Amino acid sequence: MAHDALDKLLDDLEAEGEHAPTLRALSERLMISRQHLLATCLETALKQRYAAELTQKAWTCACGRTLRSWRSDPKELSTLHGRIILYRPYFYCRSCGTGCHPLDEQLQLAAATHQFDIQERSTRLGAEIPFGLSEEQFQRLTGVQASAHFIHGTLNAVGEAARLERVVPPADEIGRRIEDARAGSHRRPVLVVACDGAHAPTRPAGGRKKKRGPGAWREAKGVRLYLLGRDHRIIHVASWHEIGDKEHVSTALGIIASRIPRDQVRLALVADGAEWTWDVMRRHFPDGEEILDYYHCAEHVHATAHAQFGEGTLEAHEWTEAVLTRLALNELGRTLGGLKRMRPRSPAAAEEIRTLAVYLAGQSERFGYDELRRRGLPRGSGGIESANKLICHVRLKRSGAWWLEGNGNAMLRIRCAIYNGTFPQVFADYTAAKTVTPPDNK
Ligand SMILES: [Zn+2]
Repeated sequence: MAHDALDKLLDDLEAEGEHAPTLRALSERLMISRQHLLATCLETALKQRYAAELTQKAWTCACGRTLRSWRSDPKELSTLHGRIILYRPYFYCRSCGTGCHPLDEQLQLAAATHQFDIQERSTRLGAEIPFGLSEEQFQRLTGVQASAHFIHGTLNAVGEAARLERVVPPADEIGRRIEDARAGSHRRPVLVVACDGAHAPTRPAGGRKKKRGPGAWREAKGVRLYLLGRDHRIIHVASWHEIGDKEHVSTALGIIASRIPRDQVRLALVADGAEWTWDVMRRHFPDGEEILDYYHCAEHVHATAHAQFGEGTLEAHEWTEAVLTRLALNELGRTLGGLKRMRPRSPAAAEEIRTLAVYLAGQSERFGYDELRRRGLPRGSGGIESANKLICHVRLKRSGAWWLEGNGNAMLRIRCAIYNGTFPQVFADYTAAKTVTPPDNK
């Protein structure tokens, strides 16, 4: 069968088309006709490897009865290598009132026509780019037609089956990454725990046709843990992002925390100043050094300088430098005194100054950037900022995209799994849950 298909393919390539085709023209033509050849190869391999199972006449039911096969059912299988129709024996137990195709389970067939090889890749693609584009690109790159609707539905199902315990890397893998960061040094590497919020566009349930409420920006809360390796190399440990309240993030951080060998790292907690972030991090890492993210802090100082002295002025620049220098030296008292003595030049400036003072006063003991640097501790959470962008913004914030909370979280779980290196486990869990032959009532 396979040889015949190959002969046909070669004949087709020779017969069709223009007189002197370019390499690309030949390649594009092969892209279409190879599906037939490869599907035939796949079918031949299945028939050889499963010759006994395909003609099986007897099957023992879970209840212990020996069943006889009385029919063969076709199942259409769509794979990365084209479509085939598989005829496999069907067994029905009158006592149990259930029927099954034993070979489906053995081959781990998906209930849907598109099999798991397609589902795995389409999910990874759908996790990167919008579903409409995914459909187009998937077809272009694989030659297989999978609709946007199918890609979306599969991704949601994989995301729903993804459990926090599996999205986060296991303890032995985390241990390996710590060893990697240590790189033979006797000094324990710094483990940065960073926490931040990002705005995710969500919408209430309801179809497009039905009237539904307006969309809302909700906070997707995220935690990211990473190691500072030699030469300031960042080694990712784990990320978890979720649209929900802080207790959800706290649960996630608790599980990650239980997999960290405390005696092998120096802990640094970094956040932007929102009180929920410190609360959550302190709960699971009470021994961590608290550090106010320098970049967030600098942004606040800049905003105040602009309001008071005007954007881009020399005065604004000098004042910003002075404040940041004092904070770097951990002189919070002097900084706050200075703010109190300032004479606001406008009501807007007065408001900014007041806000900055409140913000800084709540962050005492989280400055001292100079000293942190000497001790090899970070002064900023560039890591969580980039994780927020990488995991949350690039996929959730697309123009016109408003997410149901459940679907948004399914997407975040998959993106975290891909980023954490745990997607293969997560997809295997989904496959295991979806391969069990559904009871057949025919
Ligand atoms: Zn039975």
